[in-house]
Amino acid sequence: MFKKIDHLGIAVKSIDEAMKFYTSLGMTVDHIEEVETQKVRVAMINVGGVNIELLEPTSPESPIAKAIEKKGEGLHHIAYSVDDIRAALAKLKADGVPLVNEEPMVGAHNKLIAFVHPKGVNGVLTELSQDQDH
Ligand code: ZN
Repeated sequence: MFKKIDHLGIAVKSIDEAMKFYTSLGMTVDHIEEVETQKVRVAMINVGGVNIELLEPTSPESPIAKAIEKKGEGLHHIAYSVDDIRAALAKLKADGVPLVNEEPMVGAHNKLIAFVHPKGVNGVLTELSQDQDH
């Protein structure tokens, strides 16, 4: 069901500041966009087919703003590509895994995304991500 790691999400106060590390090593930002549903600006850096997703809050109400307030900047979640996000969520729910989102929403890159609660994944906030392009 899981195809590959799609990206690693990192909570940052400022994408511009955070980018300095990556650009100093020659990496370039693929893509920056604002994701309304999550109240974040997102910068994607492709590293060998897996993205580093820098997440900067655009509002104090953003889940990323709250995460930074609680734990500071840092690794926020790991995201896996799946073929069928609804089937994956239904399977996890049937298995009693706690979900943050029972229904997928539209995330960065116009992908369908949903989060699995860290309680169900050894403390790791886990995102499922499905391409809508095909
Ligand atoms: Zn993500």
